Amino acid sequence: MRGLKVSSADWHAELKSAVRDPAQLLTALDLPDSLLPAARAAAKAFPLFAPGGYIGRMTPGRLDDPLLRQVLPLGEELDEVPGFAADAVGDAAATKSAGLIQKYQSRALLITTGACAVHCRYCFRRHFPYSTAPKSVDDWEPALDLIRADDSLDEVLLSGGDPLTLVDTTLAELAERLAAIPHLKRLRIHTRLPIIIPARVTSELLAWLCGTRLTPLVVIHANHAQEIDDNVANSLARLVDAGVPLLNQSVLLRGVNDSTTALVDLSRRLTDLRVMPYYLHQLDRVAGAAHFEVPISRGLQLIAEMRTQLPGYAVPRYVQEIAGEAHKRVLA
Ligand SMILES: *Cc1c(COP(=O)(O)O)cnc(C)c1O
Ligand code: SF4
Repeated sequence: MRGLKVSSADWHAELKSAVRDPAQLLTALDLPDSLLPAARAAAKAFPLFAPGGYIGRMTPGRLDDPLLRQVLPLGEELDEVPGFAADAVGDAAATKSAGLIQKYQSRALLITTGACAVHCRYCFRRHFPYSTAPKSVDDWEPALDLIRADDSLDEVLLSGGDPLTLVDTTLAELAERLAAIPHLKRLRIHTRLPIIIPARVTSELLAWLCGTRLTPLVVIHANHAQEIDDNVANSLARLVDAGVPLLNQSVLLRGVNDSTTALVDLSRRLTDLRVMPYYLHQLDRVAGAAHFEVPISRGLQLIAEMRTQLPGYAVPRYVQEIAGEAHKRVLA
């Protein structure tokens, strides 16, 4: 293994020094100033946020770079498009208590924080009222009480925002409280941190994640093979070597990964690194993200083409979340 430094100070510093000013992003990538007014206007509704290490994986001068498309605010985000709403997936109706969402049998989701390591322009939670979510471990107690009282639950998902923006001492404490609930069996973390800031995979993280009684699972979120450089590969290897099953979910995004080549390359890269492709999500119809939408007919075609080129295990399930349904709808 290469001499990857994994002290926790590194990932904090990367978050702190993340690019928030559209002008700085355009300059770093040799892109024209003419993009600035629209970027500034769109960033007012949902701020730009991108760590330097992630920007470093983009190709300068390319407005069509698949990583840049995910973070650069565009004027199209301000268009009002019929059918695209603030709460696209019915989170409000499924909220059981502050920070606890349950839509499906046997598993509940904790919104651990509103913070993320990157602001993905297509994010379905960009309008989520995060200020109502718990702020400290004790604030989770009402949600934990509901989990304690419901022995039909055997799995808790930590989501957000991104749970791995929290420090390991906080997460270890939360994991300990969850592990003390006898009917829980598994702890699942949904995070983009290992992709965006691979130094986040610290020894402290591995210690609490693998030290709990609960079976850990980590679902990462990569949309394009170009996101997975050697540092990311090393961090994913640390997780798998520690015994953590890794799954990946992607969102099908126009101009980012809506080609057979992009999706096949991503699946190959993931499986080579022992990460199983799990879900390819149809875009949730959240206001501001309409320009990322790929028609389902095209998505079905892409999955069919992937099947001809990949082993069965490397083809993700193509799913769509429909508010009120008992599970994510499997499109293919
Ligand atoms: C997507 C989701 C889950 C997880 O669903 P799986 O199909 O088990 O991956 C759980 N809770 C909520 C609220 C979700 O949106
Ligand atoms: S990391 Fe996840 S929750 Fe955060 S902005 Fe991106 S898609 Fe949304």
